Amino acid sequence: MDDSDSPVTDDVVTMEKIVALCKRRGFVFASSEIYGGIGSTYDYGHYGVLLKANVKNEWWRAMLTERDDIVAIDSAILQHPRVWEASGHLQGFTDPLVDCRTCGKRYRADHLSELQCGRKPSKHPGETDECDLTQARDFNLMFETTIGPVKESGSVAYLRPETAQGIFINFKNVLQFSRKKPPFGIAQIGKSFRNEITPGNFIFRTREFEQMEMEFFVAPDEAQQWFEHWLAERELWYTGLGIRPDHLRLRAHDADELSHYSSGTSDVEYLFPSTTPGGGARWSELEGIANRGDFDLTRHAEFSGEKLEYFDQASGQRYVPHVIEPAAGADRATLAFLVDAYDEEVVAGEGEGSGETRIVLRLHPRLAPVKAAVLPLLKKDGMPELAREVHRAVRTVVQAEYDDGGSIGKRYRRHDEIGTPFCLTIDHESLGDRTVTLRDRDSLAQERIAIEGIAEEIERRVTAPWITPKLA
Ligand code: ATP
Repeated sequence: MDDSDSPVTDDVVTMEKIVALCKRRGFVFASSEIYGGIGSTYDYGHYGVLLKANVKNEWWRAMLTERDDIVAIDSAILQHPRVWEASGHLQGFTDPLVDCRTCGKRYRADHLSELQCGRKPSKHPGETDECDLTQARDFNLMFETTIGPVKESGSVAYLRPETAQGIFINFKNVLQFSRKKPPFGIAQIGKSFRNEITPGNFIFRTREFEQMEMEFFVAPDEAQQWFEHWLAERELWYTGLGIRPDHLRLRAHDADELSHYSSGTSDVEYLFPSTTPGGGARWSELEGIANRGDFDLTRHAEFSGEKLEYFDQASGQRYVPHVIEPAAGADRATLAFLVDAYDEEVVAGEGEGSGETRIVLRLHPRLAPVKAAVLPLLKKDGMPELAREVHRAVRTVVQAEYDDGGSIGKRYRRHDEIGTPFCLTIDHESLGDRTVTLRDRDSLAQERIAIEGIAEEIERRVTAPWITPKLA
């Protein structure tokens, strides 16, 4: 996290509220809870799975459906150990680690100002007289394992710390079989593993996480222009899905932050809340976009002996493509969408829930785990049967839920908290005229719509252009 700025954070929800909502509504749980938990590892429950799947689907949509210059790949997590020699991870994928001789805890040396001292929670490590920190030393973040039945004689392998290398090592395969030529990209979503020294801040930094990475291969003299293209595209992706523009920014890396091979890197940063008491909100990396030059293909060519280049028949030129990489995290993006969507409001007027405070996730309808809830007002008089009919129709086009548990007010609150944009209530009138009440999550407006064609109507509303009401 970047601690250089501590902006005004009145409109950023606390992480405690997000964690509590995620647990209460079954989005995300601490993993292995019945055994006392395993630090900073999380399991996604039903609504969390649906939400994260929607985030990933929107990423695929932006990469594949809406363009024709990117193809997909799904590479193995376990790769030849030479991959990590060539990529530089074996030697250089390290974070600076310090130990405290007093409390016995370990800290990431460049994150001390965000961490709590093991003995005095209100202080940062190194701030009290008792703290006795060692010099920082390099700690490699890759998880090591062995392949083969006998540990001693098995060969060492690593759980991939990023998905990108699985793309580079397939460059030749893709070039051969996809009928693509630069400029073109290869995109991948998958799990990555990093033995982070200080994971935390809920699902912001964990040791096992999902990445959404795309490597875009271009002619060397076009690299800068494509770098700028991807900066703009990726920022638009987040705001298009509802993130408030004033909670998102692009920050160019300073020269001393750049990898030696990169001629430019910018982070898309989001104003994340922190779990550290009094931590407030901080601008933190959501996605990194790098102009990586020809480093990756050159290194893999050198280490593997394979030629990884492109021959342009039109110009007669042979070159090693340069790479522009937008690298995002599916879990971090999911967290940003949750944080940005969270709202509490006192319901005004005379209607439903007037005067009460409701919690509502104002998620973009495309991201919402459930798009429509079908609610029979009563469990009698034929209402459940008609509601089932409506549910069967709506579920053919979107994720929909039939819900008859508790009072109608309670059901509305439940669906507000998981971000369901449309509630469809079946009442006495529905039985007579085959209409339902459609309640809008954000405005609380209610209107009657016909059951005939209801699936198409919900689909139309879910895919319609949407702007977060927080901007109104
Ligand atoms: P950080 O500076 O936060 O450690 P990074 O610069 O090492 O991140 P990259 O290697 O650029 O991250 O990875 C691309 C993306 O993968 C990040 O922007 C983030 O969204 C996600 N990511 C990286 N590490 C983690 C992690 N430990 N937990 C969750 N997501 C992660």
